[in-house]
Amino acid sequence: MNYSGYAHIHTIGCQMNVYDSEKLGTVLNALGYQPTPDPEQADIIVCNTCAVRHKAEEKAFSFLGRFARDKQKKPHLITVMAGCVAQQEGNNAFQRLPHLDLVLGTQAFSRFSRHIEALKSGQRRITDTDPSDVIFEALPDDTAFAENPVSKFVTIMQGCDNFCTYCVVPYVRGRERSRPWQSIVEEIKVLADNGIREVTLLGQNVNSYGAKENSLSFAGLLEKVAAVDGIHRIRFATSHPKDLSEELIQAMAKLNKVCNHLHLPVQSGADRILKKMNRGYTRELYLSRIDALRSAIPDIGLSTDIIVGFPSETVSDFEDTMALVEQVGFDSIFAFAYSDRSFAPAARFSDPVDEAEKMARLNRLLAFQDTVTRKKNEQMTGRVLRVLVEGVSAKQHDGFVKTTPHTRQMTGRSETNKVVHFPSDTLTPGDLADVRIDNAYPHSLWGQPLEQMFQ
Ligand code: SF4
Repeated sequence: MNYSGYAHIHTIGCQMNVYDSEKLGTVLNALGYQPTPDPEQADIIVCNTCAVRHKAEEKAFSFLGRFARDKQKKPHLITVMAGCVAQQEGNNAFQRLPHLDLVLGTQAFSRFSRHIEALKSGQRRITDTDPSDVIFEALPDDTAFAENPVSKFVTIMQGCDNFCTYCVVPYVRGRERSRPWQSIVEEIKVLADNGIREVTLLGQNVNSYGAKENSLSFAGLLEKVAAVDGIHRIRFATSHPKDLSEELIQAMAKLNKVCNHLHLPVQSGADRILKKMNRGYTRELYLSRIDALRSAIPDIGLSTDIIVGFPSETVSDFEDTMALVEQVGFDSIFAFAYSDRSFAPAARFSDPVDEAEKMARLNRLLAFQDTVTRKKNEQMTGRVLRVLVEGVSAKQHDGFVKTTPHTRQMTGRSETNKVVHFPSDTLTPGDLADVRIDNAYPHSLWGQPLEQMFQ
């Protein structure tokens, strides 16, 4: 019998970790483990970790630390630290977590199954942080469709060669390497056959997909994915401004399935800071990319990442960032106060910005963006947006009126990535619907579906 008990996978961090956790789950399912949402019930606990921020790292240690006592009661319990913190810490992880069984680095996922078998036969404290050129591949199984039956992430490349000075990714995820397009398309066909209608292609810098391998470009990959029957929408993240080619912009404009939305991290509006961050572009180049995008795709939705208070950022540098944010008019931003990551070069930069000043700058930026986001949402009222239905809304909206005893409040996203709520008796997850927007809220829209488009 292949039955091995229950497995609980806890994911911290980015979309890529969500994808990787699903793949680790596939391995455990093949070994006979059954997924459980309840860690108490589990015979194997995996924490897939993130090292991008100190807080995320601490969360990983604290989550795994909870199982020290369980292990005394349940000696067969296997505990695994996987991902970026595992890669970064290696054997040191055992000092803080003496009960830990496996430290599985970012490039060791293809050896996960072998390590679990070794632990089951009595081995203890295995560390695998060896580099590998191989990208771990595993086709999704039935359990992968239980949580989100409409939309899935698909990693197309791993690692990064950019070495931004604040970032640990090149050190913990290794150098950039792309998956062959054939295996990406094969995976997406399996997803489509199982009802998935939207895929988000993931990589640290998707714009340079295939460049090192001298294979298909990212624009070429989008064409291949767009040809997969059953997929209605394609999104991707993350894009690097320096690699955003005209070829890619034209592909986005031409391919109907590619959503009119781009997340393009700028990080700072000051050239001096961009240089210290080693971002490889200037403010002028970034703005010229925005102009090119808007002239090819006039209604494109734009979002960005910003780091506030990078070492030596002056008031004038910060004002440059504020001015850029105002000039572009992003639909949304993800802004963070800079914090040192010990493995990243910027941790050794002098002239840190005072913490209170950092927070004051961050709050000013976020407050400004709130007004822009609200205004952008208000401009949507009266317009008809095509929405991919994701499911029943978790929260009931003020404008919700039951027209029949069965009317449900549904939720979905526009192509520009805006959350849209609407009432419907008939629409189901995976449908596309045209929704007329009646009300705008700070973080969502409310409307009425005109008709069901197609399934
Ligand atoms: S592009 Fe820069 S920020 Fe993004 S993963 Fe690579 S090094 Fe990190």
